[in-house]
Amino acid sequence: MKKIQMVDLVGQYQEIKGQVNDSISEILDSAAFINGPHVHSFQKALEDYLGVKHVIPCANGTDALQIAMMGLGLEPGDEVITADFTFAATVEVIALLRLTPVLVDVSPDTFNIDPAAIEKAITPRTKAIVPVHLFGQCADMDAIMEIAEKHQLYVIEDNAQAIGANHLFKDGSRKKAGTIGHVGSTSFFPSKNLGCYGDGGAIFTNDDELAHTIRGIVNHGMYQRYHHDVVGVNSRLDSIQAAVLSAKLPKLDAYCDKRRQAARAYSRAFSDLDSVIVPVTVRDCSGICDTCDCHVFHQYTLRITNGKRDALATHLGEKGIPHGIYYPIPLHKQKAYVDERYDEADFPVTNQLVDEVISLPMHTELDDEQIDFITTTIINFLKD
Ligand SMILES: *Cc1c(COP(=O)(O)O)cnc(C)c1O
Repeated sequence: MKKIQMVDLVGQYQEIKGQVNDSISEILDSAAFINGPHVHSFQKALEDYLGVKHVIPCANGTDALQIAMMGLGLEPGDEVITADFTFAATVEVIALLRLTPVLVDVSPDTFNIDPAAIEKAITPRTKAIVPVHLFGQCADMDAIMEIAEKHQLYVIEDNAQAIGANHLFKDGSRKKAGTIGHVGSTSFFPSKNLGCYGDGGAIFTNDDELAHTIRGIVNHGMYQRYHHDVVGVNSRLDSIQAAVLSAKLPKLDAYCDKRRQAARAYSRAFSDLDSVIVPVTVRDCSGICDTCDCHVFHQYTLRITNGKRDALATHLGEKGIPHGIYYPIPLHKQKAYVDERYDEADFPVTNQLVDEVISLPMHTELDDEQIDFITTTIINFLKD
């Protein structure tokens, strides 16, 4: 059996090596390292793929979130509601801009921000909601867009983990994750579902004016050469990363399918275990329906409900099976973000999830033998 990796980028590279190496060497020959033709063509290709009017590439997913918030003109003291159970980047940029983060609890089935908790947290100072499409599927965007409309709030989608996912609305229509709110952001960090070979990110919007504002912000607030109208940042995707992403984008749907296949195999294997809750997709197909494209499984995350999560993690380590605990500490308990505004009673789900979750190896190169070894090891450990 091949050694099991949490993420196998080497195996994936072998399939696109010719194309990637050719375009990188062309970039080296032309020395168009920044804002070259590769960046522009990738931007257009991603706009087509997502069905969104504007993609603005930038340096990483954290910048993308920050720039989206700057573009919307959010000001110090404005409250921004986001999920307590996510990667810290989301709350970090809110705090950096001197906005007020308002962390709220998530839903136990999807791990995504709980619309009821959002409603409860709204005050006259609330300006925006940042749903994070955690582990590869959209938060409840029907409910979130409704709440936003009712209270006149911006919706900024942190789509770092769900690029390529479709959100199926209650009326049966579909939109790509990240293109539903006023603005969306993503990350092309190597281990993300669409990853480059360094850092990269992008911002998406259908709003022409916002897109114009953001294009200036990523470039030092310049709308005309050496005229700086607003305070901006320097945040760009380089040509080499764009070339890698151009080679991978046409394969993104196939990559998502491979992840779903692995997820289905995992979920089927675990279906008889009482102490395990497998990932649930929004539309009740439990992640195993063959036609669902709502979930792109950035992570395949189990809940271990018999208190043996840590023992299982140790056991997997001994068996050479990589795994991750995403995330071990709720954001409202992180030193940088503790605040007396928070009441423990408002976070029952996050507080429970941090003790139960474990993520299994998930990438495009997992084979049946590896999945069988992983599932058998877990079943044998948990059944006695
Ligand atoms: C990875 C990630 C980010 C940050 O992306 P970087 O490119 O690493 O800056 C932001 N939010 C979430 C949910 C992420 O998973």
